[in-house]
Amino acid sequence: MGATLPVEVLTIGTELLLGFTVDTNAAFLGTTLADAGVAVTRRATVGDEADDIRAAVDAALTRTGLVITTGGLGPTRDDITKHVIADLLAMPLEFDELLWASLVERWARMGRTISESNRSQAMVPRGGVVLPNKWGSASGLWLEGPRGIVILLPGVPFEMRNLIQHEVLPRLAERAGDHVIRSRMLRTSGIAESSLGERVADLSDVIAPLTIAYLPDLTGVDLRLTAWGLPASEADGRLDAAAALLRERVGAWIYADGAMDLAEVLIAECAERGKTLAVAESCTGGLLGARLTAISGASAVFLGSAVTYSDAAKSAMLDVDATLVQRDGAVSPLVAEAMVRGVVARLDASCGVAITGIAGPTGGSEEKPVGTVWFAFSVGGAVDSVKVIFPGTRPEVQARAVQAALLGLLRRIRGAAVPGGTMI
Ligand code: AMP
Ligand code: MG
Repeated sequence: MGATLPVEVLTIGTELLLGFTVDTNAAFLGTTLADAGVAVTRRATVGDEADDIRAAVDAALTRTGLVITTGGLGPTRDDITKHVIADLLAMPLEFDELLWASLVERWARMGRTISESNRSQAMVPRGGVVLPNKWGSASGLWLEGPRGIVILLPGVPFEMRNLIQHEVLPRLAERAGDHVIRSRMLRTSGIAESSLGERVADLSDVIAPLTIAYLPDLTGVDLRLTAWGLPASEADGRLDAAAALLRERVGAWIYADGAMDLAEVLIAECAERGKTLAVAESCTGGLLGARLTAISGASAVFLGSAVTYSDAAKSAMLDVDATLVQRDGAVSPLVAEAMVRGVVARLDASCGVAITGIAGPTGGSEEKPVGTVWFAFSVGGAVDSVKVIFPGTRPEVQARAVQAALLGLLRRIRGAAVPGGTMI
């Protein structure tokens, strides 16, 4: 790692330990601070327990000298963060008239009278700096002493995020200098993590000190390049160069640069080429339509999805020949092709895809095991079909099938060859 300012994050709240509240604050702090050149080197969670909070902050100060806490700044009995840390740093709490006046005013603006229990929110550790919270009633605090700095932020994510952006980052930036931790994401689909790894393994040395991370999930593997602690201009240049190297090797599977969803990429591609889209779904029950309609602007391209789950629906809605279904079974290449022809003709679309498969966990056979899915694609009148056998549970097979349908269609619309040894 390069020159970055190290910080530890402590998220406080018994609800976090119990898992009732997912610790989104820690994730937000990780990404946001990194971008500002501040590296989270350790993070921990403790409940609303004085001894645990005290021990955690104490240890972090000894190790790193810079700690950000979230949570436990409210007006109720379980909110003890400020009291515990003020005591640890020997900064006794004092009533802050100005802060109290601003709280009274805030409540008055909302047409309410502030209650006495809120007086605790106007108590400030002596020598501490108040980070004004315009988004709620628990102010943040910046406490600086001989052992280092403790920054206390409220737990409510919206308030915490605003305080970070408006109050904390500008102050930390002075200390972090011009060095940033910056990432670039390249999203792949249709290739296994291991194959991807084999194709790019030797690039690790070439792109150093940048690092490359493989982030697999159900629908593909994201490749994340990170530049650690470099000046911003240098970081961007190196990320560009590393991304170009990755594209040379595995560009055939990269569908997006950044956080874009594959459905968004497909819709943009169709819009650019003046194509319209219709889909026919059996085992995914409308999930493909949902992925497409989740994208703003889909209406320019996406005409509709026919959810034809039963054999009868395939015939009634898509004109699939009933005797064909009887002969080959619903999960078969010719039925998939008839489905896509049907939906494209009925909706008068220029492109289409059909999905018919066995999502499981029941319904599989030796010949057609659970996870078997037939896809048929229609682009400009040319129809073809592909079989893929997906691993996983029912929702996993469905999610993978939807992604494969999007990917297959994108490749065909672009006229791109399907790279050897891959799914679709
Ligand atoms: P607190 O400031 O501890 O009173 O927390 C107020 C609310 O913020 C809690 O009820 C949680 O819903 C939420 N919250 C607290 N900590 C976190 C966290 N680390 N991540 C996400 N939400 C949180
Ligand atoms: Mg709490």
